[in-house]
Amino acid sequence: MGYSFFSLAANALTGHRRWKPTWRDASPRDRYDVVVIGGGGHGLATAYYLAKNHGIANVAVIEKGWIGSGNVGRNTTIIRSNYMLPGNTAFYELSMKLWEGLEADLGYNAMVSQRGVLNLFHSDAQRDAYVRRGNAMMLEGIDAELLDREGVRREMPFLNFDDARFPIKGGLVQRRGGTARHDAVAWGYAHGASERGVDIVQNCEVTGFVRDASGAVAGVETSRGTIRAGKVAMAVAGNSSRVAALADFRLPIESHVLQAFVSEAIKPLIDNVVTFGAGHFYITQSDKGGLVFGGDIDGYNSYAQRGNLPTVEDVCEGGMALMPAIGRVRMLRSWGGIMDMSMDGSPIIDRSPVDGLYVNAGWCYGGFKATPASGHCFARLIATGESDPTAAAYRLDRFARGYTIDEKGQGAQPNLH
Ligand SMILES: Cc1cc2nc3c(=O)[nH]c(=O)nc-3n(C[C@H](O)[C@H](O)[C@H](O)COP(=O)(O)OP(=O)(O)OC[C@H]3O[C@@H](n4cnc5c(N)ncnc54)[C@H](O)[C@@H]3O)c2cc1C
Repeated sequence: MGYSFFSLAANALTGHRRWKPTWRDASPRDRYDVVVIGGGGHGLATAYYLAKNHGIANVAVIEKGWIGSGNVGRNTTIIRSNYMLPGNTAFYELSMKLWEGLEADLGYNAMVSQRGVLNLFHSDAQRDAYVRRGNAMMLEGIDAELLDREGVRREMPFLNFDDARFPIKGGLVQRRGGTARHDAVAWGYAHGASERGVDIVQNCEVTGFVRDASGAVAGVETSRGTIRAGKVAMAVAGNSSRVAALADFRLPIESHVLQAFVSEAIKPLIDNVVTFGAGHFYITQSDKGGLVFGGDIDGYNSYAQRGNLPTVEDVCEGGMALMPAIGRVRMLRSWGGIMDMSMDGSPIIDRSPVDGLYVNAGWCYGGFKATPASGHCFARLIATGESDPTAAAYRLDRFARGYTIDEKGQGAQPNLH
């Protein structure tokens, strides 16, 4: 079923009784060419690009909950490609380009909104760092623009310019950055994959791996029976270490909880994404009017999809420091997701140490923006055995070889990335 003006008009005329489900809720079959573990954004995108780009549609996406129950449906929806380090820039720019064509490609409204991402700076040293970042981006053909204090004031006059503890000195903007409706991204990829023949199996937990005589992975054990597969790919985000343990290897990843918050709906106030540079706080306004914001991870290892009150207080303090006006807005909801925090803050898209098993993990709290490129590159690796050039640096052995990609410069401390 396609979505278009004509299908909308035809269904309106027939009382909206003929819409078909967006994707088929499949039952697992005995065997597939590829089994993808994890029905988040990355797993669904991988299945979509396997079918679309490589003609491999005998694929199952195995999801222990429901589509969108993980981080893909819990994030603050920010997309951007304002990275600086070689290894990251080309990959995230590929993702941005895929976002720009995504809705036409999927035939699905993912509400991609290039409303701009503004990173504020509050000191001369921070301005120098942002100038460097902006220059590195422009050298790679990525848009970047430096605003001085008055430039920021013109765009966001309601920020605290006058008596702030950390005065705003300017900001680095990526105008092509913005937001996308997170769960529509999951639904869109599910729709596109399902239309091409991929089985999307919900409420089916992978509990172990089937091995052949050589020890290679030849399928998965699940809560709904054994499924054999030519290749198995894991894209389970916060559960990466757990699933790797089922295959007897360890990943350089810790699981941490990250919270997000939404306020009651108010009239349009914030028409971009803005981040506070003197603390960790980022905010945007949803199309329904709610202020959507977040900050740091809670700071301890956890598999719980909820966080604790000290972080709520800390994040709200950041918001109040930046725009005191929001102190009058009531917070409506908060929730948490489990982040796969890697040792250098960058992801892994590679073969695992076990033959037949591929790893997509380590997205920290920036993996939503990477969803299209991650699926694109992971599918290529699985289908051809070769890394996409833009993702070639995301090797699992980079930690042993000393080729880490530490965008934040925090060292091997996952909770700081
Ligand atoms: C609060 C919050 C805010 C965020 N904000 C942003 C943001 O603004 N921008 C950005 O770029 N990123 C953001 N992120 C990060 C981003 O959401 C994640 O990095 C990304 O979604 C992870 O990839 P995924 O979508 O595949 O993960 P998920 O949606 O978590 O998918 C993994 C799936 O694997 C399933 N699974 C796990 N174990 C098994 C098993 N054994 N068997 C079967 N299935 C299994 C899980 O149920 C889950 O559905 C945020 C995350 C959170 C939590």
